Amino acid sequence: MNSRSGDGVPAKYSEERSGGETSGGSLDPWLREILRCPVGLHELVDGTGPDGAPELQCSADCGEPGQRRGYRIDDGVPVLLADESRVFTV
Ligand SMILES: [Zn+2]
Repeated sequence: MNSRSGDGVPAKYSEERSGGETSGGSLDPWLREILRCPVGLHELVDGTGPDGAPELQCSADCGEPGQRRGYRIDDGVPVLLADESRVFTV
């Protein structure tokens, strides 16, 4: 005699999200917070340069009204040099 019992499949799955999204390419938040534009001494925000590469950009006008600077990120290290910065207008 064959008597089949239940399959033993759990009725519900426990969906657990283990956080910790690591976004490659961007800087750690704590690092970005302490970084300042060497020209205008304001905070920097994540941006993208004209070539699609990530860069840090001024969060406020820099030097002249509407003028901002973008600092390239070289191998994960932002190059915060005025001479190396890219000036653009918003
Ligand atoms: Zn600036």
